[in-house]
Amino acid sequence: MNRVILIKYGELSTKKGNRNFFINTLHRSVVSKLKNYNVSIHKDRARMTVMFDDKDLDDIKSIIDKIFGIHTYHIATVCESEDTSIQETLLEVIRKETFNTFKIDVRRSNKNFPIHSQDYNRVLGGLLLKNIDGIKVDVHNPDLWINVEIRDDHTYIYYNSYEGSGGYPVGTQAKGMLMLSGGIDSPVAGYLAMKRGVELEAVYFEAVPHTSLEAREKVVSLCKKLSSYTDKINLHVVNFTPIQESIYKYCRDDYCITIMRRMMYRIMEKIAKKYHGLVIVNGESIGQVASQTLTSMSVINGVTNMPVIRPVACLDKLEIIDIARKIDTYETSILPYEDCCTVFVPRHPVINPKEDICVKEEERFDYMPMLDEAVESLNTIVVTSDDKEYSDIL
Ligand code: ATP
Ligand code: MG
Repeated sequence: MNRVILIKYGELSTKKGNRNFFINTLHRSVVSKLKNYNVSIHKDRARMTVMFDDKDLDDIKSIIDKIFGIHTYHIATVCESEDTSIQETLLEVIRKETFNTFKIDVRRSNKNFPIHSQDYNRVLGGLLLKNIDGIKVDVHNPDLWINVEIRDDHTYIYYNSYEGSGGYPVGTQAKGMLMLSGGIDSPVAGYLAMKRGVELEAVYFEAVPHTSLEAREKVVSLCKKLSSYTDKINLHVVNFTPIQESIYKYCRDDYCITIMRRMMYRIMEKIAKKYHGLVIVNGESIGQVASQTLTSMSVINGVTNMPVIRPVACLDKLEIIDIARKIDTYETSILPYEDCCTVFVPRHPVINPKEDICVKEEERFDYMPMLDEAVESLNTIVVTSDDKEYSDIL
């Protein structure tokens, strides 16, 4: 018997005008993520089907669980859209199950099939009652809710349902540049942005020798976890040392973090323009630290006109941690390596910074060429969920 994974689209089915674009993008994701398996993939406006080898089912399910744009999916048995074939297949499949009550739910999108859905419900229900002992119909709360979808090409029979990850397929929105640190928040921010269809490139600011190779490896492994939701993520590593050292040499202590973050934003904008990113994405959360009060955010944001998306801005830390655990980044994030934000922390960072003071402090050194140099000397690592691709580069 042939089985397929029957994929039902998520929110994308509400996007009338660009429905095909959404489906094609999802199709490309599915094809690419399953490229190492012997599968045959078909799509139409309502469904996608993946024919698979039985031995690969568990692997394929765990890949599909991470593809955004899938609402639910089912493991369906396929037969011809023809009465005898449907009856034989249904009986063969259902005989293997243990249950007391059932309901048959026929949907007939193939209008050439001669029997109406309601009538066919009764035919198939009667078939099961006659051939399997001790079972009853329960239309409200059945043990087995058996769907029979009679479509033009084939008929699909299924009674299990798996939740997909929802959202929009990655690539249905423009590109965002994710500020990816080794902390808990930014990988979660990246995941949430991708879930809305945003394609990501990631940027990590390092300050060698104040930050270690282990700190970078931690960011690469977080990026790797994120890349399992898409094809690959380019991770741009910025050498932030000269700028950071200058800030701490020339600027007043309590403003160092604010100015450091303004420099990060300026560099982010330049990198975004270079790689055609439309927005900056980061893990800032309102009130979490001095640089994330609304006043701080506003003064830091003042250096760029580019939209800054902060997916976790309004979440509590515990809510962020829940998501981090779910996407398996938490254990990596809490590894104790230093970040460039944590190596030079002033004793009393300003909570309500003033823009004019930032500007005055920044005039104490010639930072413009340093920003350009930071962008020109980027070190880019292509990160995929497959280890091999970046291990040589590190
Ligand atoms: P934590 O989970 O400990 O809060 P964090 O990474 O969120 O870690 P924050 O100091 O809160 O650290 O920084 C706010 C945001 O700024 C981060 O979520 C991240 O998007 C960005 N950021 C901070 N440090 C870096 C860095 N070294 N490289 C890239 N982005 C960074
Ligand atoms: Mg944070």
